[in-house]
Amino acid sequence: MTDIAIIGGGAAGAAVFGELLRRPGHRGTVHWITGCASPGRGVAYATDDDRHLLNVRAAGMGLFAEQKDDFLQHANRCLGQAQGSDFLPRRLFGEFIEAQVRACMSEAHSHGFRFQIHQVKAAAIHRDVDHRYRIELEQGEALAADAVVLAIGALAPRPLKTASAEALASDVYVLDPWNQKEPVSPPRRVLVIGTGLTAVDTLISAATRWPRAELVAVSRHGLLPFRHSASPLAPYVHQDDLNADLLACDGAASMVRLVRNALASPSVTDWRAVIDGMRSVNAKLWQGFTLAQRRQFLRHLRWVWEASRHRTAPASFETVQALIESGRLQVHAARVLAVDGRGPLTVTVRSRATQLMNTIEADRVIQATGLDTAVAYARDPLLAQLLREDLATPDPLQLGVAAEPDGRLLDAEGRAQPGLYGIGSLLRGNLWECTAMPEIRTAASRLAQTLVPSDDLSGAEAASQG
Ligand SMILES: Cc1cc2nc3c(=O)[nH]c(=O)nc-3n(C[C@H](O)[C@H](O)[C@H](O)COP(=O)(O)OP(=O)(O)OC[C@H]3O[C@@H](n4cnc5c(N)ncnc54)[C@H](O)[C@@H]3O)c2cc1C
Repeated sequence: MTDIAIIGGGAAGAAVFGELLRRPGHRGTVHWITGCASPGRGVAYATDDDRHLLNVRAAGMGLFAEQKDDFLQHANRCLGQAQGSDFLPRRLFGEFIEAQVRACMSEAHSHGFRFQIHQVKAAAIHRDVDHRYRIELEQGEALAADAVVLAIGALAPRPLKTASAEALASDVYVLDPWNQKEPVSPPRRVLVIGTGLTAVDTLISAATRWPRAELVAVSRHGLLPFRHSASPLAPYVHQDDLNADLLACDGAASMVRLVRNALASPSVTDWRAVIDGMRSVNAKLWQGFTLAQRRQFLRHLRWVWEASRHRTAPASFETVQALIESGRLQVHAARVLAVDGRGPLTVTVRSRATQLMNTIEADRVIQATGLDTAVAYARDPLLAQLLREDLATPDPLQLGVAAEPDGRLLDAEGRAQPGLYGIGSLLRGNLWECTAMPEIRTAASRLAQTLVPSDDLSGAEAASQG
């Protein structure tokens, strides 16, 4: 009998919870510690702004690896008509997750399967002498489990070091773009720090919310995500050969040469097909890098890779382009050197092209710098406790925690912790591409198989049938 605790109330936690409930021969209890009132939505799917679109086509989204069309069917029921190629509102996917979880719970309930949802945060995890884990919850309760899955997602945003204490304390600086208080009066200029996917949604919301505001976006490279093609692309015909050659490469520089050559080939009609076709080998390519090669990739290629690989829905892209063309939005490739004042704030930047310094005044500054995985610097009490007690150790490049390829967390000496797993963005150091639903649901399915192997199920089912 295995009691399992899943910590984290986002889509990754929901996927693991659902996968385990769908294995009803399992005799232990599954605890889902969600930390929030609407389990399953997490950061990405809690938005109620329907201009915040999925950046994966409907056909590619889902909660369970083996149920490929479920989200599309759900969307069709809700919207009357949806195509697999559509980029639908993220809100709809959040509702879908909740519906899937409800269905799994009701099915599991009818099988007499044991599970509990705890809508509080986990505060600490200890390993007891009997090798079970004791999980302390924020409100003082504790529970025991043989295995724990950490699905805590993105870390809470940390303020930029360049922002003064005074600026941070003002109502003008917004640290979390998903949690904004309405300002007393509409801002005249909104400055968004960051130009990735979070920044795109932030700019789209700001443009509608404050129709008279000027918008400025600043990031070191000034690179907005590229757009998805309007319709799905045919795979590149030589993708398998390219992927095999990439796997045989030594380092990112030779990989870039191979990809460039492929892109120049007449059989490539759209560069995006080649980038998407690498998805199946990205984790292996990353794992093949030495630490120095990973560092080099992060320094020189990360931004262009992120913009090409994690693209925006065409509608979001067009909205941002229209803002630029109308002169309402300016995008700067510049480093933020300082954010000062108490409102309006003065943002000092240094241009990437000219190295000249400039100051921009804004009466709202929104930090939208995206995924933070630097666990060593996080203020998260659970992670701090895990690091302190050596149940986890940071990845050397601060891309989450160090882990085995199967998700088991490593301690500072590199020993895998039996029964203590991570999923999602915490594992970026080991897998690099592990934050989107297509990867998360595959990982959740594998994890469920590891935690409750099919052999155990057949034994339990046979026993239950007498
Ligand atoms: C704005 C945005 C848009 C995205 N769009 C897409 C998309 O279109 N398609 C796609 O495939 N991917 C998308 N992603 C990627 C996204 O990260 C994944 O799809 C997925 O939502 C990740 O879920 P998660 O559960 O790992 O993390 P999260 O959504 O971050 O959820 C983690 C949860 O754990 C909780 N938690 C943290 N600590 C504790 C604790 N100690 N105890 C209990 N609970 C805790 C948090 O409060 C949170 O609710 C997007 C991401 C973002 C941020």
